Amino acid sequence: MTETAILTRRYKFAASHRLHSECLSGEENTKIFGKCNNPNGHGHNYQVYVSVRGPIEPHAGRVTDVGALDRIVADTIIHRFDHRDLNLDPAFAGRTTTGENVTRLIWDLLAAKIPGGDLHKVGLVETRDNYFEYSERQG
Ligand SMILES: [Zn+2]
Repeated sequence: MTETAILTRRYKFAASHRLHSECLSGEENTKIFGKCNNPNGHGHNYQVYVSVRGPIEPHAGRVTDVGALDRIVADTIIHRFDHRDLNLDPAFAGRTTTGENVTRLIWDLLAAKIPGGDLHKVGLVETRDNYFEYSERQG
């Protein structure tokens, strides 16, 4: 039996957004998103938790190359979102920038690029009280 383990790294970026859906009326947007629908937007200091699952490599004793993972997350996620308006990111055209959708996008951007092991889970802290997770069950 192969021993597997999960490594989780934490990353940070700061970004602004406005929760607003073009599919909803102004009244519905206000009702659903409340103050987060404010036209001027607002910012968050996001924390991203990237979990990689895989066999423990016998020599290094690790599941992935952490240095390579850090570079990939920096290039793919942090440089893309840090100090940006998420609503202007092309991936959010026609999609609201909720924590659920941001977490899902981070998964989609990273899943194929993990340097060893497999992406297991993406966690996103948006505020003190809001935490989101996304993962896909492996067949
Ligand atoms: Zn917000």
